[in-house]
Amino acid sequence: MKSQVRVAVIGGGVVGASVLYHLTKLGWTDIALIERSELTSGSTWHAAGGFHTLNADTNMAALQGYTINLYRELEQISGQACGLHHVGGITLATTPERMDYLKAERAKHQYMGLHTEIIGPEEIRKLSPITNTNGVIGGLYDPLDGHLDPYGTTHAYAIAAKKQGAEIYLHTKVEALNPRPDGTWEVVTNKGNLFAEHVVNAAGLWAREVGRMVGIELPLHPMEHQYLVTDEIPEVYNHGSELPHVMDPAGESYLRQEGRGLVIGFYEQRCDPWAVDVTSWDFGHELLPNQLDRISESLEIAWARYPVLAKAGLKTIINGPFTFAPDGNPLVGPVGGLRNFWSACAVMAGFSQGGGVGLTLAEWMVEGEPSRDVFAMDVARFGKFATRAYTRKKVTENYQKRFSISFPNEERPAGRPLHTTPMYSVWKEQGAVFGQGHGLEHVNYFAPEGEPRYETPTFVRSNAFATVGEECRNVRDNVGINEIHNFSKFLVTGVKAREWLDEMMAGRIPEIGRLSLSPLLSPKGRIIGDFTISCLGENHFQLTASYGAQAYHQRWFEQHLPEAGVEIRNISLQRIGFQIAGPNARALLSKVTNINLSTEAFPFMSVRQGEVGLTDAIVQRVSYTGDQGYEIYVDNSQQLALYAALAEAGQAFNLKPFGMRAMMSLRLEKSFGSWLREFKPDYTPLETGLSRFVAYNKSAEFIGKAAALAEKAQGSKRKLTTFIVETDDADVHSDEPIWHNGKIVGSVTSGGYAHWAQKSVAIGFLPPELIQAGTQVEIELLGKKRKATVITEALFDPQRTYLRA
Ligand SMILES: Cc1cc2nc3c(=O)[nH]c(=O)nc-3n(C[C@H](O)[C@H](O)[C@H](O)COP(=O)(O)OP(=O)(O)OC[C@H]3O[C@@H](n4cnc5c(N)ncnc54)[C@H](O)[C@@H]3O)c2cc1C
Repeated sequence: MKSQVRVAVIGGGVVGASVLYHLTKLGWTDIALIERSELTSGSTWHAAGGFHTLNADTNMAALQGYTINLYRELEQISGQACGLHHVGGITLATTPERMDYLKAERAKHQYMGLHTEIIGPEEIRKLSPITNTNGVIGGLYDPLDGHLDPYGTTHAYAIAAKKQGAEIYLHTKVEALNPRPDGTWEVVTNKGNLFAEHVVNAAGLWAREVGRMVGIELPLHPMEHQYLVTDEIPEVYNHGSELPHVMDPAGESYLRQEGRGLVIGFYEQRCDPWAVDVTSWDFGHELLPNQLDRISESLEIAWARYPVLAKAGLKTIINGPFTFAPDGNPLVGPVGGLRNFWSACAVMAGFSQGGGVGLTLAEWMVEGEPSRDVFAMDVARFGKFATRAYTRKKVTENYQKRFSISFPNEERPAGRPLHTTPMYSVWKEQGAVFGQGHGLEHVNYFAPEGEPRYETPTFVRSNAFATVGEECRNVRDNVGINEIHNFSKFLVTGVKAREWLDEMMAGRIPEIGRLSLSPLLSPKGRIIGDFTISCLGENHFQLTASYGAQAYHQRWFEQHLPEAGVEIRNISLQRIGFQIAGPNARALLSKVTNINLSTEAFPFMSVRQGEVGLTDAIVQRVSYTGDQGYEIYVDNSQQLALYAALAEAGQAFNLKPFGMRAMMSLRLEKSFGSWLREFKPDYTPLETGLSRFVAYNKSAEFIGKAAALAEKAQGSKRKLTTFIVETDDADVHSDEPIWHNGKIVGSVTSGGYAHWAQKSVAIGFLPPELIQAGTQVEIELLGKKRKATVITEALFDPQRTYLRA
C-alpha cells in the first residue's frame, strides 16, 4: 500500500470502481480504491443488472444514456466482458395519465438524442409475446434498455482504471478519517495508514458509517428489495431472440429474460427500511430472508400481465438491501463544511447511473466543476433539515412511488410539515394548500370555502386553476400579500465584505441603501446563482437567492471565504417576511410605516430600515410580480405582528393573500426567469439575458470573468425568449422540444398559464436569428405539436412603469 495518494476512493462497488476509472480517464492516476472485502461486496453483487435511460430529470436521463453507451468502451479498454444484453425495454401505460407522461418523456428524448418510441399494444405483443396487453393503452420503447453482469461490469471498471495507473487495495477496511491542517486526510485502515489529498465516500451500504467518521449524517437509507428468478419457460426459450425488458408501473414490476427463464422484481407498497440507523460491518455476501407475503398483491398482477409466470417454477428469490436518498437520486459532489471530502453515495440504479456519477465526480474534482447542471444529484440539494427520521420517511415514500408518475404539480406528503414559519397556522385557517421546498412549507394557493384542500396531481390544468386566476387578478387590480419563503438569505459582514463580494459576484455591488441583481458565475462562466444584493450599511449586506439552493450556495461561499475579514451567516429561517404587490401597495404600506415611501426618497431597487406596524423591518422596493411592490423582512419572532399590521391596514385596499402558483404565473407575464428553470449551471449570462447584470468592465477579477468576457466577444448560439402557446387544456412545464420548419431548434425552460393576460406562456431557447416578434414555431406538449408565437415584449407593463412608479 502506498503511503500517500492524491485520491482515496472508499468502496469497491460499481460506483467506487466507476469513480476510479473516470479519475484516470481525466488524467489523475496517483489514486487508490480501498475495499474492505472483495470488489462488489455491498449491494452490487446481488443486483439484477438492468439498465434504462428513463428519468424525470433531463440531465439525469442524459447521464444514464452516457452510462449505457460507456459499456462497450469499457469492455475494449479492460478486455473484461460486461455481459451486455441490449435487448431494449418497454414501459407500459394502462392509464391516459401514464400515456401522457410517456409522451412527454419521449418528446424530451428527441432533443437529447435518445431514440425512444411510443408504440401501441399490437407492437408490444409483437416485441414481447409473453405480455398480456389487456388494459394496456401503449408504451414507450427504448432500444438502449438492457441488462448486464454486475460482477463483470464492476471488474471492467476496475481493470480499466488499473491499466491507466490506479491501485486497488482489497481486504482493507477504512476505520477512521482524520482531517489534517492542510485540508488533506489521514486514512486509517486495518492494514496501516495513508495520506490522501482527497477522499471519496463510495461506501454504498456503509456510506452512512463512513460519513459519521467525518462527523456528518448523509441523508440516505437502505431498503430491502426483492426479485424472483424462474425456472425454464418454453415460451421464453422458444421465442427465437432474447425478449425485451417490460416495466409495468401498474404492477410495480420490472421483467426481463434470464437465460431460459425470467427475472421479475417489485417495488412493493409494503416495503421495509433495512438496517435502521446503522449497517453492521459484519454484513457480507449474504441475502436477506424472503418476504414473499409483502409482494403477494404485486405477484397476482404480474401473473395476469405475464400468464407464463403462473405456471413457471421458482429458481431463486433474491432479497437484498440498497440505498436511496429522500428523492431517489444519488448524492454526489463535495460535502459542505469539509475540505476535500466527496460523496458518491445513494446510487440506487448503479448500472444505469454509475458511469454518469463517476464522470460527474471526476470532472468536479479534476476540472473544478461538472460539465452540466447536476443539481438533481448534488449532495447539497439537502441541508441540515434532512434528519434521520425525515430521510427514513421520505426514502420509504420514494421506494413506494418508484413506479409512480412524477406530476409537475405534485407535492408528496411524507415527512411534512417539518419547517414552518409562524404564519403556517394563520394561512391554514385561510384555506392554504401547502407545498414544500428544502423542508420548508410554503403556500401554493388558497382553496375557497367548500373546495378540497388538495391540488390534484396532473399534466393538464388542475383544480386550482380558477382560484389561482383570482389570486393573480387581485394582485394586478388591488394588492396581494405573499410570504417570501422561497428566498434564502445570507448576511455578509466584516471589513472585507464589499471587496470579497465584488470578487464573488459578476454584478455591481450596490451602495448603501441600494439593491442590485447579480449572477453568481462558476469559473467556466456558468450561472450558479441569481442573487439580489442589498447594502444595509458599510460592509453590511443581505443576499437573497433561491431557498432550495441555500446549502449549495453556502458550500460555495465557504469554499471561497478569506482567512479573515468576512463573515457569512445563513439567516434564511431567521429573517422572514412578506411581499406586497399591486397598484395599492404603496398606499397600504404608507399607513403602517414611518419610512418615507415617495419615489424620490425610496426609488425602485433601494432598501430602507424602519418600523412597519410594531416591528423593526427591512423594506426593499422591488417586486417579482412586476407590480409596484415591496419586500418586508423582519425577525421571525415579529412575523405575526407584521402580518397583523398589514392585514388590518389592508382591509381598506382589498388586500388578499396569494400563493406560489400565482407568483409563478405573474412572473411569466414579465418574462422573469427563475432558478433551476431559466437560470442554472447549464446556461450562461448571454444565453439567458442575465448579461445585463454582469459588470464586464468592473475592475474586480470576479469568478468567471474571463469566461464571461469570452462569451460576450463570441456571442451565443441560443437565447431565451417568450412564446404564446395555442393550447386550451394543458400548459408547458419544462424541457418540451420547440420545432421550426420540421426541425427541433430549442427547448422550453418553463411556462404555465398567465392568468391576468389570459394566455398560455412558455419561456425557452431559440437560435438568436429566430427571435423576432411573430416568429411561428411549434411546441410539443403531451405528444401534440401546438402552435406558438415568439413575443419580445413583456405581457404586463412592458415599459416597467408600475415597477418604478
Ligand atoms: C435486489 C437488488 C436488485 C437490484 N437491481 C438493480 C438493477 O437491476 N439495476 C441497477 O442499476 N441497480 C440495481 N440494484 C441497485 C444496485 O445494486 C446499486 O445501485 C449499486 O450496487 C450501488 O453500488 P455502490 O458501489 O454505491 O455500493 P455497494 O455495492 O454497496 O458498494 C460499497 C462497497 O464499499 C465497501 N466499503 C464500505 N465501507 C468500507 C470501508 N469502511 N472500507 C473499505 N470498504 C468499504 C463495501 O465492502 C462495498 O463493496 C439492485 C439492488 C438490489 C439490492
